[in-house]
Amino acid sequence: MRYVRFPRLSFADEAIDLAILDELRDYYEFGVMLQSDEMQRSENRAVLRLLRQALQERMDQKLERVFRLLGLRYPPADIYSAYSGLRSQRSDLRASAIEFLDNLPERTDAYADLSPEESAAAEFLDRFDITFSLVAKGKQCPPWCDKKSHTHGICYDITFTKPERDNLEFPFWDSQHNQQLKLEPTAYSVLACISNDAYCPDKFEDFCSEYGYEEDSRTAEKLFNRCSEFSDQINNFFTAEEIEALSKIR
Ligand SMILES: [Zn+2]
Repeated sequence: MRYVRFPRLSFADEAIDLAILDELRDYYEFGVMLQSDEMQRSENRAVLRLLRQALQERMDQKLERVFRLLGLRYPPADIYSAYSGLRSQRSDLRASAIEFLDNLPERTDAYADLSPEESAAAEFLDRFDITFSLVAKGKQCPPWCDKKSHTHGICYDITFTKPERDNLEFPFWDSQHNQQLKLEPTAYSVLACISNDAYCPDKFEDFCSEYGYEEDSRTAEKLFNRCSEFSDQINNFFTAEEIEALSKIR
């Protein structure tokens, strides 16, 4: 699925990794040359000095390119800090840059078999240390459903947890599509839904004009109350930063 939908993006990741490896191999080979016995000989000093200087310059260029390529795969600001740290005269900055680079997550491997939507959802949960779980409750209608003689579909109890925070819990009815395929809701389908529900106009009048309801409609009023309550629940659980990141999951 990933390859069909974003063929260029996925292959680009692999191409970038290969380019990084190429640059690193050159960098390493130049390093070996620079340290070799031939480079340390005392005859032809002037020539060797020029050669050493040229090699050192090429290595600097290679290193810069490695970091530019890394900036395409990881947050560029972080990569830039790591690069400055590595080039710094201060050994403590160099050490922390190396530690940072050592701990770069292997993004492609972790999310390789997920669709772009699901990997965005998984990254969101990982980034903010949020876990997501669900329990199937069987076929049932929500309390507000007033249709007779039908079943709404399978209801799931959804729970989001984060350390040192009260859980976010709510019932969820999955899409018809997933139910027909007998699939459970995925993190993406639930996050996309709450991303959409995070915003609710403050006033009933605004709600009506935005969503096209008559202000004297009892149904609209009930709907507004439900949306507004759910939006509060979402905004109480997630921080503003998380809501901002969540808004990109659609
Ligand atoms: Zn129903």
